[in-house]
Amino acid sequence: MAGRGRIRAADIALVRERSKIDEIVGEHLQLKRAGGGSLKGLCPFHDEKSPSFQVTPSRGLWHCFGCGMGGDVISFIQQIDHLSFSESVELLAGRANVELKYEDDGGRPTGAPDRANVGQRARLVAANTAAAAFFVEQLGTPDAAPARQFLAERGFDRQVAVDFGCGFAPGGWDALTRHLRGLGFTQAELVTGGLAKESSRGSLIDRFHRRLVWPIRDITGDVIGFGARKLMDDDPGPKYLNTPETPLYKKSTVLYGIERAKRDIAKRHQAVVVEGYTDVMACHLAGVTTAVASCGTAFGGEHISVLRRLLMDQDEFRGEVVYTFDGDAAGQAAAMKTFAEDQRFVGQTFVAVEPNGHDPCELRQEHGDAAVRDLVARRTPLIEFVLKTTLAGYDLDTVEGRVAALEKTAPLLAQVKDHALRPAYARRLAGMLGLPDETEVVDRVRRLTGEGSGERPRQRPRPVQRTPDDAAVAVEREAVKAALQVPEIAGPSFDAVPAEAYTDPDYAAVAAAVAAAGGAAGATVTGAAWLEAVAEHCPLESARAQLTALAVEPLRSVGENDVAYVNALMARMQEIYTVRQIAVVKGRLQRMNPVEAADDYMKAFKQLMDLEQLAISLRKRATGGLTP
Ligand SMILES: [Zn+2]
Repeated sequence: MAGRGRIRAADIALVRERSKIDEIVGEHLQLKRAGGGSLKGLCPFHDEKSPSFQVTPSRGLWHCFGCGMGGDVISFIQQIDHLSFSESVELLAGRANVELKYEDDGGRPTGAPDRANVGQRARLVAANTAAAAFFVEQLGTPDAAPARQFLAERGFDRQVAVDFGCGFAPGGWDALTRHLRGLGFTQAELVTGGLAKESSRGSLIDRFHRRLVWPIRDITGDVIGFGARKLMDDDPGPKYLNTPETPLYKKSTVLYGIERAKRDIAKRHQAVVVEGYTDVMACHLAGVTTAVASCGTAFGGEHISVLRRLLMDQDEFRGEVVYTFDGDAAGQAAAMKTFAEDQRFVGQTFVAVEPNGHDPCELRQEHGDAAVRDLVARRTPLIEFVLKTTLAGYDLDTVEGRVAALEKTAPLLAQVKDHALRPAYARRLAGMLGLPDETEVVDRVRRLTGEGSGERPRQRPRPVQRTPDDAAVAVEREAVKAALQVPEIAGPSFDAVPAEAYTDPDYAAVAAAVAAAGGAAGATVTGAAWLEAVAEHCPLESARAQLTALAVEPLRSVGENDVAYVNALMARMQEIYTVRQIAVVKGRLQRMNPVEAADDYMKAFKQLMDLEQLAISLRKRATGGLTP
């Protein structure tokens, strides 16, 4: 800064000595004992999953073995806060109560009225802090009635407003500017600090007018900017205005509530990401003390890094990040975006979705503190939410729907970078799709990622609708044989099984042709005439070609009792079909939320119970006839 002398070397040494490096660094990331008197944590300067950032308090040094950065407490502040060397020394001096003297200014101490001696960062923090106090004061004025009403309507009383430092930016053009100029802040400081801007006439005007304001603090608790909400209908600005990018305020890393939440985020290994200032307030008041929100920008990669450094536990990242999203389309889109961007930690990423689209603030107003805590407690893994959201667009009760849904969801699983997690997700997806096992899903994902399998030979791709169950296909063959050979016995029980219950396309076509010809029970002719009637209704060439063989090949009945055999056969056929239906309903249940869709859930559950019951009785009938 112009006109400022160099800080005396002795003072710099004193600042270094009095600033505990583990405390200063510990404000930005979670440090754990690493043996030999060192501490380690996740490096704030590069993205990493296991800690290679080490601090040695006895020597006052830090070093990252991942990216190679390192230094002392001053260089840490320089890097993390993007400050110059002297600004960093000044910041640390302020905290350690060290009075700095400058070499060519006659040794005037800081804190004295001479502004030139004070570093820019400290000045900007001071200006923002003074502005916050001014706004708080204004909240009591008559003009601020709409702001007080806004807070009261959302269940925030006066004490809460004080606690969170809520304030009011008054009308007029330059109330704050004049106030801060009166306190000795320069025009340049007000502009650089994001508190005022130059009007077209060259004079300074306040950045915020007639708005409810929240002070935004950095992780150490310094006020670095504001969020301001529109209150008046004739306010032409957007709903929310924020401090612009300044040397203090970097929106890509700023998190509202971080100074309040950081201790519990580290302690509980959980961070809750909400969307607005009132949501952060509601969460903290409701006991969800790990809530933060990004300010005036989407929650992004750098925000996540800030949280991860606090969540680091022992040797790895184990904490969870819970996003609250509206249940609406926008919220789902946000979740999908998060999924697409945040792959490495997908296993530790959760979503808490309020089915009625309430945000935490509305939820607290309508249903109280416990409802907010419940919302977070009911979180689901992000991957599951994304799969469910995607599957919602398909009719999974049809084969075509399931095939299309697998086509769409397999690429999502293929995106999951943590390979160890994929099998479990594949199993989960198979369950949701109502597939008998995860093989189809695993194969599909493997093909998409181009990975071979070391453990077993690569399987030949096969269509999803055909589960290769030789036993089932054999039963199908026997069933259509019976329908062609002894329609009078196969009769109603054959007709009760729909053609789509057959996994073999040829047998399915034969079953459909039998139905089209009037059904086995309705067969008025037998032998060749019946076969001809069925053939007429069978458009599938390959199936038609087999008709004679099927009509001729002896049934595998044990002994001479065709009636008992055919009845058991049909029961077995129905059982297989029922078991498949059970998988479909189970999949549907897994995709449902028992709380949100209680009625549908109970209906499906009842259906499942009925099907299970039916399967049991069919199994008895089938084994009774098929086992000698
Ligand atoms: Zn590093």
